[in-house]
Amino acid sequence: MTYKLLIDGELVDGAQTMDVIDPTTTKPFAQAPHASITQAGAAIAAARRAQRDWAALGYEGRRPYIERFADAMTENLDRIAETLTRERGGPIADCRFEVGRARDAIRHFAGQVLEDRVIRENEQELIVEQHYPQGVVVAIMPWNRPMTLLSFKLAPALITGNTVIAKPAPSTPLCTLILGELAAEIFPKGVFQTLADANDLGPLLTSHPDVAHVSFTGSTPTGKKVLGSAAGTLKRFTLELGGNDAAIVLDDVDLEWVADKIYAAAFINAGQVCYATKRVYAPRALVQPLADALAKRAKAAVLGDGLNPATTMGPLQNRMQFEKVLSFIATTREEGGTFLTGGEPTGTGYFIEPAIVTGLEESARLVQEEQFGPVLPILPYDDLDDAIARANATEFGLGGTIWTGNPRRGIEIAGRIETGTIWVNQHMALPLDVPFGGAKESGIGLQNGLEGMKDFTQIRILNAKLAG
Ligand code: NAD
Repeated sequence: MTYKLLIDGELVDGAQTMDVIDPTTTKPFAQAPHASITQAGAAIAAARRAQRDWAALGYEGRRPYIERFADAMTENLDRIAETLTRERGGPIADCRFEVGRARDAIRHFAGQVLEDRVIRENEQELIVEQHYPQGVVVAIMPWNRPMTLLSFKLAPALITGNTVIAKPAPSTPLCTLILGELAAEIFPKGVFQTLADANDLGPLLTSHPDVAHVSFTGSTPTGKKVLGSAAGTLKRFTLELGGNDAAIVLDDVDLEWVADKIYAAAFINAGQVCYATKRVYAPRALVQPLADALAKRAKAAVLGDGLNPATTMGPLQNRMQFEKVLSFIATTREEGGTFLTGGEPTGTGYFIEPAIVTGLEESARLVQEEQFGPVLPILPYDDLDDAIARANATEFGLGGTIWTGNPRRGIEIAGRIETGTIWVNQHMALPLDVPFGGAKESGIGLQNGLEGMKDFTQIRILNAKLAG
């Protein structure tokens, strides 16, 4: 299988190639093209050339292309999901879900329109808020959810009349390159392009004067570099960054129910999800029984090759993340954490047994920083106000959850949590018509919903004097 970049309507080789590692075996299993700076420049120029005609098609003209692209994803769903299992790791069912959801997002936004908003209309004047496309959008992606996270940028940016260059993370380029292959047959040249790199094209893409908008999902430290780099040309940008989401368990919950929910929320994709639950606050008397119930579920996890239908948890996606999580585990042991289960590397790939940890102080690294892996601290609280204050005492502000037997009580507490999204009695509900985005250092700007589409447009106020 060969993978190509899509630049100016042509599927082309990169200037070099790079190995793609299967995290389940730690061995290379494919080669990806590595785009040069010259190829990146050519893609930006092509995107700019294509943008005017693409915008001129209007919503009705653009929609059929994007719908055909969603159809092509359906036809290739098995192949994309299997490639995702290899390059990202994780159960095939989860990979199929991810690709299906990305396809659904693309289809959803194909049907959306940003209508003009009449602010004032009378005999003397007409004032209207209009939205026009910004131009060339660069989508820079992380490795944990390469398909869904791209779809939340690609489809809203395309339907509003922008052209898009997708740059996947260096360790998960293949599914994005397959999308490029499908797009080559569908879109006018330059409308959607793919560039794969080895962590070296970011600074060019984020500072180039012909790029109008950088839509970035990734870590907070890289997000800050993107912001700095975009400042030189006053680019528009969206930053979806890291999180350290807290789950607060109230004293009225059913223990087995909440253990199921929290286990799923924390260990989805081996904890490598921005919105995964990363710390749990429970009433002191509930900490041990809850930790035991979670440990029971963690022990039942089946780690292995995602293509084996029995597998329930995959590996860490890359060596750097694997070593980072092992370093969190080492620090957690030094800081006096008690591992009820897990925390050991296992198997031939980047696997770590899912771990449940108690006995940590609030100042512990595992509580204060984003682990982005399968290690979950359970912390006691005596006073709910104190739990809320501790949940908020972080530079992050992405999401969080309140678990309670009384949703109304949960809603009241949710109103005191300083994050972009707060769930009550559910987790990771992200309907496509509802915007999401981070507070504080978890991001700037919104994705999804009409608000997410608006972020890819420039507001123009039309202000006409009609008489007088
Ligand atoms: P990362 O920041 O290391 O890399 C993200 C992307 O940025 C990659 O494509 C990388 O090649 C590129 N990049 C690297 N240096 C760059 C530079 N100087 N300029 C521009 N781009 C550059 O992140 P990661 O390790 O791939 O992803 C994990 C992080 O992403 C976690 O912190 C996670 O919480 C976060 N994340 C956030 C969301 C969200 O919606 N808020 C979703 C998923 C992941």
